[in-house]
Amino acid sequence: MTTHIDERCRACGGRVLPVLWGMPDVEAMEAAGRGELIIGGCMSEDIEFRCECGATAYDVDDRRVRPFTLDDARHYIDEVRWQFAKTMPQWPHEYTVSDWRPELREMFLDFVRLIRTDGVVKPWPADSPKPRYHHTYLEIDGWDYWTMGDPVDDTELINRARVGDG
Ligand SMILES: [Zn+2]
Repeated sequence: MTTHIDERCRACGGRVLPVLWGMPDVEAMEAAGRGELIIGGCMSEDIEFRCECGATAYDVDDRRVRPFTLDDARHYIDEVRWQFAKTMPQWPHEYTVSDWRPELREMFLDFVRLIRTDGVVKPWPADSPKPRYHHTYLEIDGWDYWTMGDPVDDTELINRARVGDG
């Protein structure tokens, strides 16, 4: 029960907590209220630890369980429009806006969470002694995907650039 103590989810910032299965009793509800455990509800019982948003989760064998996988991300990437950012031709990149496909908002947010939990933090510009940004980048099929780092629910835009174009 101590494996993930002090671990925080990189997507929601919340603690990774043990998941309680079955109907919670009063004691369990109070413990959940104090932030000591997560009420499992109807989620998969394979999950033993998770954060509030669910993007960081582990099964009973301590393996990461991703509610939204790389293949889900590929599906989303194929589904939406990517606009070339004309204002910054010196840094060729593309972006997609959540509002262009409001019906896909949940997938958009799941993709943002995946970028946060599974991406790597890199300085930008990479060769600068004083980088302006340290964003989290997730590489998929030759593209780096990133957001500007607002809370997940406030995020409206996902950027991408060909790996090596930075
Ligand atoms: Zn989370």
